Amino acid sequence: MKADLLIHGGTVIDPSTGISGAFDVAVSGGKITGVFKPGTAVVEAGQTLDASGSYVSPGFIDIHTHIYEGVPAMGVAPDRVGIDQGVTTVVDAGSSGAANFDDFVRRSIEPSKSRVYAWLNISAPGLVEGRSELADLTKLDPKEVLAVIERNRDAIIGIKARMSGSVVKTSGIRPLQIAKDTAREAGLPVMVHIGNAPPQLGDVLDLLEAGDVVTHAFHGKAGGILSPDGGLIPQAVRALERGVLFDVGHGSSSFSFDTMKKAKELGIDPYSISTDLYLENLERGPVYSLALTMTKLLAMGYSLEQVVAWSTVAPAKAIQRENEIGTLREGAEADITVFRLVQEPVSLTDSEGTTVRYDQQLLPQYTLRAGAIHHVQHK
Ligand SMILES: [Zn+2]
Repeated sequence: MKADLLIHGGTVIDPSTGISGAFDVAVSGGKITGVFKPGTAVVEAGQTLDASGSYVSPGFIDIHTHIYEGVPAMGVAPDRVGIDQGVTTVVDAGSSGAANFDDFVRRSIEPSKSRVYAWLNISAPGLVEGRSELADLTKLDPKEVLAVIERNRDAIIGIKARMSGSVVKTSGIRPLQIAKDTAREAGLPVMVHIGNAPPQLGDVLDLLEAGDVVTHAFHGKAGGILSPDGGLIPQAVRALERGVLFDVGHGSSSFSFDTMKKAKELGIDPYSISTDLYLENLERGPVYSLALTMTKLLAMGYSLEQVVAWSTVAPAKAIQRENEIGTLREGAEADITVFRLVQEPVSLTDSEGTTVRYDQQLLPQYTLRAGAIHHVQHK
């Protein structure tokens, strides 16, 4: 067979197909054309990539980032947290709303090599006019939101509502009701940011349906998913039973080793790993990258297969793109991450300032976006 590119010598991990072990991957025309045992197919490849000593997985997907560069000031260029860091798909989580989504498309989607999607903020200005975007309910215009979604079905994968005290002020649960009604009409999920009350987390969770995403699910603030007696709050139990998805959304103040450890002991795993990367926590930590966030989950005792699944097939499903990305299935986009597990001591710090030591680090080497190879530089 002929191929544009053959990635050979690596260890493939593709949780979407269950393929794991020594396999070669063939790519043509920007699509995956085959995954096979070395030596079982003669491939005439235009280009080869030696992945010896490395892992080859579907391209990493980060469903919570802020990549509306410079607007607001927290936003970073998509490729900085995308292909420059081994991540093939980055999803902006509500930086823009109906009033400025066209500008987001021009500024962040069109010039980027990374694949970019967006959760549209239910509030018209998104995060551009400050961080209390749900305090004034006149900024929430479902008709306008639906019109912008209709014009941008290829880019908008859901609606974002940030449900914490400093964002909603006295609006209570109302912004989420509006976001849910609008999302239901559009046939899309919502991503809800959780944090400090009000509103109460239980009231937020009770409004969510199968496929809706709770980001910052494992934060260490008061009023989270754990009850004082150490179990899950009953609304969280019911939300998980309904199929609500708990996403990491690390951020500057929203991931706690302690909460994650207690959840793990209760058998509650993350559905997906995301970063909430923006300028501050990209440059000064504690987040830095999706790869480092994945390393933190490895350090908590999860397996490499689990951590890769939560960064590939799971987030692809959460944004309803699992037929195109998050998989090495034949015919899928050739979005691929080649990475190493480097054996070296590393200090890992969560949002609470707790540091754990670990003996290895996940480091991306190559990001392949639709088959184009991008070499990841480490500082
Ligand atoms: Zn965020």
